[in-house]
Amino acid sequence: MLELENFLAGQWAAGNGPGATLRDPLSGAALARADSAGLDLAAGFEWARRHGGQALRALTYADRAALLARVAEVLQANRDKYFDIAMRNSGTVRQDSSIDIDGGIYTLSYYARLGARLSGQAMMADGEPVALARDNAYAVQHISTPARGLALLINAFNFPSWGLWEKAAPALLSGVPIVVKPATATAWLAHEMVADVLAAAILPQGALSLVCASHPGLLDALAPGDLLSFTGSSDTAALLRAHRRVTHDGVRMNAETDSLNCALLGPDAASGGPAFDAMVREVVREITIKSGQKCTAIRRILVPQEAYERAAQAIAAELAAVTVGDPRHPDVRMGSLVSRRQHDDVQSGIQALRAHSQVLFNGDAVRLIDADPKVAACVAPWLLGAPEPDTHPLAHQLEVFGPVATLMPYRDAEHALDLARRGQGSLVASIYSDDSAFFARSAHELADSHGRLHWVSPEAAKTHTGHGNVMPQSLHGGPGRAGGGEELGGLRALSFYHRRTAVQAAPERLQALAGPMGQAS
Ligand code: NAP
Repeated sequence: MLELENFLAGQWAAGNGPGATLRDPLSGAALARADSAGLDLAAGFEWARRHGGQALRALTYADRAALLARVAEVLQANRDKYFDIAMRNSGTVRQDSSIDIDGGIYTLSYYARLGARLSGQAMMADGEPVALARDNAYAVQHISTPARGLALLINAFNFPSWGLWEKAAPALLSGVPIVVKPATATAWLAHEMVADVLAAAILPQGALSLVCASHPGLLDALAPGDLLSFTGSSDTAALLRAHRRVTHDGVRMNAETDSLNCALLGPDAASGGPAFDAMVREVVREITIKSGQKCTAIRRILVPQEAYERAAQAIAAELAAVTVGDPRHPDVRMGSLVSRRQHDDVQSGIQALRAHSQVLFNGDAVRLIDADPKVAACVAPWLLGAPEPDTHPLAHQLEVFGPVATLMPYRDAEHALDLARRGQGSLVASIYSDDSAFFARSAHELADSHGRLHWVSPEAAKTHTGHGNVMPQSLHGGPGRAGGGEELGGLRALSFYHRRTAVQAAPERLQALAGPMGQAS
């Protein structure tokens, strides 16, 4: 069986424990073993800080951007191999694998282009100098310099490629070495990509390290000045936030966790039309893409009361046409969940929601293609209905990480916005409406509880980038239960990997900051 080794201190290293088995979620067949037990993480992390950090900081932003472009080229050249691994280990159809694989390459390429426009080496000016004394005799200039620690990037199982590169690109562009920790269940793809990039010897020694499987001392190996960027469940985020390195040693942490995102049909679209049709299309896409294993997926669908039946029928009719099963079969549109464990979690979540809901489309009635329901991790799509959304005990609280969403009627705009906010902080809400005033009101009232607002008006029905697609140009993250973090958003992503400092001096002396090291903004 394939052994997924770890890469630390410039060397590949095997673990010395029993390890974890990665499986094909369709057949349950063992594919690979990942093991990180017994690694000397403290020494490996220190090596990354010293060698990787120093070498990266010796380059300019534009130099580092050029490295990202070469990393993207290597990944592009090996794309077919990655699609094969994704199908075997994640059970995804080609289109779903593309979101992960091509999404990662696109994000790297985007940061390569963005970084190519930055000049300078050591810092970015943050705003203009501001006078501190009468007659501008003394002033302050804020600067941002790359953190001198390392960035530990812990990812969730659903995006082994995109999750890695969307964090790696801004970190490396900032000049910060990274240690990548993929979720064990799907670590094969991340391992293969990292191995290809290391083999191409593009990045300086120590810039890229890999820990493939769980290790109880992962956070203990961090040091003051390091950064921790996490994507996963809110329970794990809470555990990591309570770790001494974060609570006492000042390790800065960013968390992207779960979310009960909603799609909101405007009151103007209740009787049908282009906004209604766009909403139905997007809801079906979001339920089925990656079998609903997307943190941004639509979990709640809010429609005017009078549109409830029509929306239920339209969404259910589209879901009935979705074919589910082995992604190797050419007729299959939706593959499986990543593991039988996820299958069982999702099934129990559906049962919990269903106990208080109407069943508007029953996934249990769907026949799987080339997949044994007793073995495969396939779950067909479900549409549930909560005719009394104010009193539903779970629909606003329980994130079922699979192909299921709950339809809810609202009485008026105020009720709709109140229901949207009951997600207690979400990554994204999409609004389907031809009414600019309704959108403006929604944006004002939902902005503080949402990381992104996505308006699909009729003229944008074909060009919009998708409710659930995370574009590197736009901020990703959300308040409250979504983790409170921020990623991407163009150059904004770099600020997590930089330290801001106030430099106070006589104004003419501040000009020295623009000297040999240069400025990047
Ligand atoms: P998870 O169980 O929380 O695991 C996430 C990562 O944390 C994995 O790499 C896991 O490693 C690691 N981990 C677990 N316990 C740890 C510990 N004590 N110390 C250090 N690392 C630890 O989440 P998941 O099941 O992989 O992902 C599903 C969840 O992620 C969903 O709730 C989803 O909403 C969320 N998600 C959010 C976003 C977003 O951008 N907001 C994106 C994708 C997914 P092992 O695998 O080795 O245990």
